[in-house]
Amino acid sequence: MSPLETILRELILEDGPISLDRYMALALAHPVHGYYRTRDPLGPQGDFVTAPEISQMFGEMIGLWAVEVWRLMGAPAPVRLVELGPGRGTLMADALRAAHLAPDFLAALEVDLVEISAPLRERQRAALEKSGVRINWRNSVDETPPGPAIFVANEFFDALPVRHYVFRDGGWRERRVGLDVEGRLCFGLGEIEKAIEARGEEGDILEVGVAAARTMTRIGVRIAAQGGALLAIDYGYEQPARGETLQAVKGHRFVDPLESPGEADLTAHVDFSALARAAKGAGAAAHGPLEQGEFLTRLGLVERAAALAAANEAQRALVEAALERLAGAGGRTDMGRLFKAIAVTRRGAPPPPGFGTARDEA
Ligand code: SAH
Repeated sequence: MSPLETILRELILEDGPISLDRYMALALAHPVHGYYRTRDPLGPQGDFVTAPEISQMFGEMIGLWAVEVWRLMGAPAPVRLVELGPGRGTLMADALRAAHLAPDFLAALEVDLVEISAPLRERQRAALEKSGVRINWRNSVDETPPGPAIFVANEFFDALPVRHYVFRDGGWRERRVGLDVEGRLCFGLGEIEKAIEARGEEGDILEVGVAAARTMTRIGVRIAAQGGALLAIDYGYEQPARGETLQAVKGHRFVDPLESPGEADLTAHVDFSALARAAKGAGAAAHGPLEQGEFLTRLGLVERAAALAAANEAQRALVEAALERLAGAGGRTDMGRLFKAIAVTRRGAPPPPGFGTARDEA
């Protein structure tokens, strides 16, 4: 049994079943035993691989995106670049290197990394040592000092806790984590929640990204009041849907979400319509979502790949494979279609690069 499972069993024995979002929050972020607190989960030896780890081109495109957004904001100085869940710091290192094309942007810049993982903070420090930019670490978005800020989040929102409601015996009931007769963790259902108005049929499941919406609301309020923008890229869906997407991954394999809490990565697909709603509800404007492949292509990914390959023929095959994986849709691991990008700006601000056509307007 994982150390966290022992703690959870005691907690449930004492207080009764806990909601799924509380379970997820503890499994991922318990101060001592949480999954993200204790390890670097990325890469072939870890549990999953992300876009910035596939190719330097991903972070470069986002760095250039940030420079352009800053110009559209009227080039305020100082400006903060805030990354949520920066992993190994690869995206930020590549973004800052690309931003050398804009020395005025770099001169105005303060970087904030919102990260709860001590091992990953160490990796970020090492990756960014030579960037020449001042880096601050924060535990949450609320800790970032006020002022205009550009937020970047890749595979961050999918790591935030979700709540489930199951339609059973005439109403929506919250899914909870309790104990079975042998004292093992198991799912159960609470009382009917009369406040939920959505229609349902027996067995339907509603997945609600409670923490993602909360975080997006805070950022939206801040962008509306103080200026700035957000770019979030994640695995997710565009229209509200029924069904659950919670999954647990350990060593590149799916496992039961209740098995070894604290040792498996728990994620849920991002509901982009809910993120856009939260941003708009906070007084900001939402753009997109659009597919990652389309977004990166509009930013110049194909041209960047050609330049990189021409500069180093020995790397051509690798660069082309990375291009396919980031922007393509044919292969099982291709991210071009499955991943989506959404942006948030102030109301009335020009659409950020990549989002500029009318059909993307949310
Ligand atoms: N963006 C990186 C890493 C994605 S993994 C990449 O694309 O490679 C998710 C990241 O979010 C990790 O850095 C993890 O430690 C961080 N994280 C997870 N939950 C968090 C939370 N509640 N607050 C801040 N960071 C969190």
